[in-house]
Amino acid sequence: MKLLVTGGAGFIGSNFVMYMLNKYPNYQIINMDSLTYAGNLENLKSIEDHEGYTFIKADIADAHAVDQAFKGGIDVVVNFAAESHVDRSILEPEIFVKTNVMGTQVLLDAAKKYGVTKYVQVSTDEVYGSLGETGLFTEETPLSPNSPYSASKAGSDMLVRAYHETFGLPVNITRCSNNYGPYQFPEKLIPLIISNALNNKDLPVYGDGLNIRDWLYVEDHCSAIDLVIHNGVNGEVYNIGGNNERTNIHIVKTILQELNMPESLIKYVKDRLGHDRRYGINATKITSDLGWQPKHNFESGIKETIRWYLDNQSWWERIQSGKYQAYYEKQYGER
Ligand code: NAD
Repeated sequence: MKLLVTGGAGFIGSNFVMYMLNKYPNYQIINMDSLTYAGNLENLKSIEDHEGYTFIKADIADAHAVDQAFKGGIDVVVNFAAESHVDRSILEPEIFVKTNVMGTQVLLDAAKKYGVTKYVQVSTDEVYGSLGETGLFTEETPLSPNSPYSASKAGSDMLVRAYHETFGLPVNITRCSNNYGPYQFPEKLIPLIISNALNNKDLPVYGDGLNIRDWLYVEDHCSAIDLVIHNGVNGEVYNIGGNNERTNIHIVKTILQELNMPESLIKYVKDRLGHDRRYGINATKITSDLGWQPKHNFESGIKETIRWYLDNQSWWERIQSGKYQAYYEKQYGER
C-alpha cells in the first residue's frame, strides 16, 4: 500500500508515519510537508533511512507539486497538513484558510483525478464548537466552529463531504480531541507548561483555568486512523476521544506536581478571544463499529510524556530559539 501522508513532519503526522512504518514495514509512505515553523524533520530521524519512506517538501496548496506526487500512484491519502494553533489563527487567519481549506481542495482534486482507495481528513472536535456543563459531541452534532482555526477545519470537512456526495470519492473524516505526547510543538498547553516549568518561567493560564479539554495520547489517535484507513465505511465521520476530560488548571497542576515545582509559577493571563469552554467526545461509533480502544490512560500517558520532554530537552530547546520565540513574545510578552 502506498500512502501520501501530508503534514508528516508535524506532531501527530510524524508519530503517525513512525507508527505505520513500524506496524507495516512493507508499506510505502510519502510524507509531503512544506516545513512551516511547526514542521520538523528531526522528529523522523528514526525512520528517515527506511526504504519505504520518502519525503517531499511541498505545500499542499501547490496544485502542480501535488499533481506530481500523485503521478507516481497513491492508494491512500491521510491529510494532517494544517495550520493548527488557535492562538495563531486569531492573530493571522489568512494562512489558515489558504492551507486548511484551499490546500484540502487541491488534495481532493488530485485524489479525484488519479483515483484513490481512501482519503482520510484528519479533523478536530473543535469544529463542533463549545459544550455546556453536560453532553458530548457525537458525529451528528451540528458544526458550530468559533475560532478562525476551527472554522477553517470545518470548511475543509465540508469540502471532503462534498467530494464524497458529488463525485463519490471514498472519504472519511476523523474528529479527534486534544492530543498529547512526544514531539508536540512547545506552543501547545502540555509541552508549553513542561518547558516553561523546567526553565523556571511563568506558566500562562488563560482566564480562570477552568476550560475543559478531552485528552488523548497521540499513539491512540494513530491507531484510530489506521483502523479508519482499513475499515472505515466510505463517507462516514468518526469521532475519536479518550474520555479524559480535564480542566486546563488541572493539567498544569499535574505537571507541576510531577516535576516537583511550585504552583507559584502559575500566572493567570487575559482569556483567549472566543475561548471555547468545554469539549467532550462520544467515541461510541469508532469503538463499536471499528473496534477501536485507546491503550493509554491519562495518568500514565502524562507521566510518559513528561519523561519524554525531560529526556529530550535539546529537541524543544532548539525549537524555542528563533521564530517561535518571536511569536511567544507577541502572544504572552517577554519571558
Ligand atoms: P502541527 O502544527 O504539529 O503540524 C502540522 C504540519 O503540517 C507541520 O509539519 C507543517 O509543516 C505542515 N504544514 C502546514 N501547512 C502546510 C502546507 N500548506 N503544506 C504542507 N504541509 C503543511 O499539527 P498537529 O498538532 O500535528 O495536527 C495535525 C492535524 O491534526 C491537523 O490537521 C490538526 O487540525 C489535526 N488535529 C490536531 C489535534 C491536536 O490536538 N494537536 C487534535 C485533533 C486534530
